[in-house]
Amino acid sequence: MNARIGVIGSCMVDLVTTIRRMPDAGETLEAPRFALGHGGKGANQAVAAARLGAAVTMVGCVGDDLFADGTLGNFAHLDIDAGHVRRVPGMTSGVAPIFVDENGENRILIVKGANADLAPSDVDAAAPALLTCDLILLQLEIPLDTVYYAIDWARRHGRRIILNPAPAVPDLALDRLVGVDFFMPNQTELAILTGHRADTPEDAAAAARHLLAHGISTVVVTLGAHGALLVNAEQTRLIPPVHVAVRDTTGAGDAFIGAFAAHYASGTPLVESLTRAARYAAMSVTAEGTQTSFPTYEAFVEFCA
Ligand code: ATP
Repeated sequence: MNARIGVIGSCMVDLVTTIRRMPDAGETLEAPRFALGHGGKGANQAVAAARLGAAVTMVGCVGDDLFADGTLGNFAHLDIDAGHVRRVPGMTSGVAPIFVDENGENRILIVKGANADLAPSDVDAAAPALLTCDLILLQLEIPLDTVYYAIDWARRHGRRIILNPAPAVPDLALDRLVGVDFFMPNQTELAILTGHRADTPEDAAAAARHLLAHGISTVVVTLGAHGALLVNAEQTRLIPPVHVAVRDTTGAGDAFIGAFAAHYASGTPLVESLTRAARYAAMSVTAEGTQTSFPTYEAFVEFCA
C-alpha cells in the first residue's frame, strides 16, 4: 500500500492481571496471571495501518520509564516512524491497569501519564513529517486543545482528517470540528456526544445526521457485530458485518479505523475501504489481545480470498 498516514495520539501500556476476585480494602491476594500489552488508541490505529503496509508517522508522548522503551521498540519493530514521539522527563508513560476475572469481566483504569503532555507545539514540531501524509488520525486520549489545534492545522494545510471521538468526552466542542472529513464514533460515543439515542442503526443514522450540520463531511458509526453505518450528504448506507467466530473484541474499533485509513489513503474508494475495514476488524476479533490480534497484510489478503 502506498498510503502515508500521520497519527497524533496516545501510547499506553496495558497491564493485564487475571484475578480470581478483586481484593477488599487492606487485603492482599495472589493473582494467577499477568501480561503486558502495547496499547493506546493512537498507537493501536497506527499499528493496524502499518501492519497493512501503510507508511505511518506517530506523534505522541511517552514517559522516561521502561514502558517508554517498550513502546518505542514496538514502533521500531513495525517500521512506524516514531521520530516525533517525545520522551517527557519526570513523567510516567500512559498505562492501563486492567483486571480480568474468571468470567471475562474487565475492570480498567486509565492513567494518561505523558499523554497528557502532548501539546500543539508537538504538532508544529512534526509538521514536516505530517505534511507528507495523506490522512491525519486523531482520538481523544490526548488533551482536547491539542486535538482542536491539530484539526485546524490539518485543515489549513489541506490534509484530510479522521477523528475517532474515543473515549467520549461530553465537553467535546462540536463547533471546533469544522473540516473533519471522517468522524468515526461507536454507538455509545455517538449517543454521549450528540445527546441522541443511537442503539439501533436507524437511531444511529438520525444522530449522525445532526453532526453533518457541524461541518463534518462524513460520519461512520461502528455498530459492533452489526457492522458500520456510513452517513454523509449523499447517502446513508449499512456496511454489513462479516460473521466470524468471536474470541476477543478488544481493539476492534481501532483495527477498523486503522484499516480504513490505510485503504482510503491509498486510493481505494470510500465504500470499498469501509467494507475492507469491516473485514479487517472482523478478523481481529477472532484472535486474543489488541495489537497482537491485528493481522498482517498477507494474512488479511488470505482471509479475504
Ligand atoms: P473497541 O472499543 O473494542 O475497540 P469499538 O466499540 O470502538 O470497539 P465496535 O463498534 O465494537 O468498535 O467494532 C468496530 C468494528 O469491528 C465494527 O464496525 C465491525 O466491523 C467489527 N466488529 C466488532 N465486533 C464484531 C463481531 N462480533 N463480529 C464481526 N465484526 C465485528
